[in-house]
Parts: sequence; structure tokens; C-alpha cells
Amino acid sequence: IAALALTGCGRNDSGSSGGASGGAGGFDQNSSIGVALPQKTSENWVLAEKLFNDGLNGAGFKADVQFANGGVSEQQNQISAMVTKGAKVIIVGAIDGSQLGTQLKQAKDAGATVIAYDRLLLNTDNVDYYVAYDNFKVGVLQGQALLDGMKAKKPNGPYNIELFAGSPDDANAKVFFNGAMSVLKPKIDDGTLKVVSGQTSFEQAVTQGWKAENAQRRMDTLLSGSYTSANVDGVLSPNDTLARAILTSVKAAGKPIPVVTGQDSEVESVKSILAGEQYSTINKDTRKLVEHAITMVKDLQAGKKPEVNDDKSYNNGNKVVPAYLLEPVIVTAANVKTAYTDDPVLGPITK
Ligand code: BGC
Repeated sequence: IAALALTGCGRNDSGSSGGASGGAGGFDQNSSIGVALPQKTSENWVLAEKLFNDGLNGAGFKADVQFANGGVSEQQNQISAMVTKGAKVIIVGAIDGSQLGTQLKQAKDAGATVIAYDRLLLNTDNVDYYVAYDNFKVGVLQGQALLDGMKAKKPNGPYNIELFAGSPDDANAKVFFNGAMSVLKPKIDDGTLKVVSGQTSFEQAVTQGWKAENAQRRMDTLLSGSYTSANVDGVLSPNDTLARAILTSVKAAGKPIPVVTGQDSEVESVKSILAGEQYSTINKDTRKLVEHAITMVKDLQAGKKPEVNDDKSYNNGNKVVPAYLLEPVIVTAANVKTAYTDDPVLGPITK
């Protein structure tokens, strides 16, 4: 997958970044482990906080889990403080993956291992591993769901659509968009899909800060500007929070509900799928992702090299970061009742 479409490949030799990442010798089990989370822009981050605290403390480590609701400089300060406190591993879900270079260098200079969590850390040598759901695949699944959903309602096009992307500072946003466009662009080019507003670029589609109100406002503007007579058949939404904002806008405008994609399996969106409104979401079980990040910490503690399953897809501009990628799963009304059987929150809702 040409996730970031920087270089196509590039060999990743074992233990890049000066060979420090193998963790030969390991470290004490009661060491501090830093986890720098971004802002609470979706339920997955809130859940991750609890899972990291429970999982790391339960394994005997000292968890130091921080949110940076105040923004990038707060996250920079938090990572510096983790280094000062002697964290042996620093796990980072970045607000802006390209703004942490100084702090990540401090971490590596102090001998810590750096793991990028969910979002890649960009333009730095000082990241050892990446653990995430396959973001490009998320986008592909969203693009395909949009097409399938519209076809199911109306077998033949052309279809009127609009495109939304996530926050441009989040490294994932462009990867999701590129994944979706790998499916949608050929259909735009052959006339099956019509982006009535003409706003087809990532820059035009972005939603600053992943904020619902920004998506809702943009959808209001698109509807009043381009859909006074026509209806919109489908909207590519990169996640559930934005999907619900888009649906709110469409309903306020008194328009028929279009096919709207999503991501994260947020409670309200899963209910919306059950009610026949939001068309799709993506299941990226946060428990599995945190569990794998903690497995990496345990391996490093024991002086073992963490397992990776992809050493070519995620080039961060400086290096190909060895990654452990998990598979995202598309969820629609067709499988919503079976998708979450082992999920303690969603399982009971979808029964
Ligand atoms: C995550 C998504 C989430 C978004 C907003 C992304 O980096 O991968 O799951 O919807 O951030 O919080």
C-alpha cells in the first residue's frame, strides 16, 4: 500500500535509529511508560486512556497517560516531561505528527523507545515502531461502502456526492482520503460520480480539528450553494463524529438522507446504522490496538524485539517505520448485529 505515497519501498534494516530499538537488555518492570494522547476528538481516544492505564499498571509498569486537549505545545511539554521522568517507552498518538521532532530526539537521546500509536510521526528518524489499523485500507473500505450504498438505493448513476476529510494536521487524514479516492477517483473521472460542488481536493475537503461543528457548517454551505434543486446521494465522511454532523445538516435542510460513511463504531453511530440512517462505520477495536502496543512494551522490557508485520508501507518522510498493522472491518446494516458480539458496550446494543 502506498500509504503516504512518498517512496514506494525502502528497506528497513532491523533496529533502525542506531540499533537502539531492539532494547537489548530490556529495563526494570516497574519503569515509567509514557502515553501521549491527542485531543478527545472521538470515543476511541477516551477508551484508549483507560485501557492504557489499566493494561500498563496491571502488567506492573507505571503508566503516565496524558491528553493534550490544549494543543500541540501542551503535547510537546508532556513528552518532554515523560523523558525527564525517565520513561523507558513513549507511546505517541500525535495531534500533529510533524511537530514533535525536538521532543522525540530528547526521548531517543535519553534511551527511550518511541512508538507511534494510531497516527504516524512524520519527518523524524526518532520513531522506532508504528502500531495502527491499516489507515489506507480504512479509506478503501469507506470509498467502496459509499459506492455500494448508493447502488443499493438506485442501481444506476450518475450519483451526486460530496467529500469530507479529517483534520489536516493528523497524518491519518490524508491516508484515509487517499484510500477512499483510490476507489472513487476513477468513478469521478468516468462520470459515474458527480461532486456537484466541484470540491474534490484534500485541501478543500478537510475538517479542522476533526470538529463536528466545522463539518456541519461546511455541509450547510454545500447544500445551500449546490443543492437547491438537486439532492445529494452520498457523502464520504472520514469518521462517525463528522458523519453525524453531516446528517444533522442534511436533516435541517429538509433533504432526503444520503448514504454517509463513517469510522470508529461510536455508540450513537452504531445506533444510527441500526435505525437505517448512517450507512456504514468501521470497526477498529481499540482494545486490540492498545493490547498490541502493550505487547510491544512487554517485549522491549524483556529485551526482545517487538513483532512487526509490515516493513514497507509507512514511510514518514525520513524512514520507513516498521509497523504492526491491524485489519479494519466495514460495518453496515448487513452485519451490524454480528460485528460486535465480543464488545462489552456495543454487543448489548446490537443484540
Ligand atoms: C483516528 C480515527 C479518529 C480520528 C479523530 C484518527 O487519527 O485514526 O479513528 O476518528 O483520529 O479522532
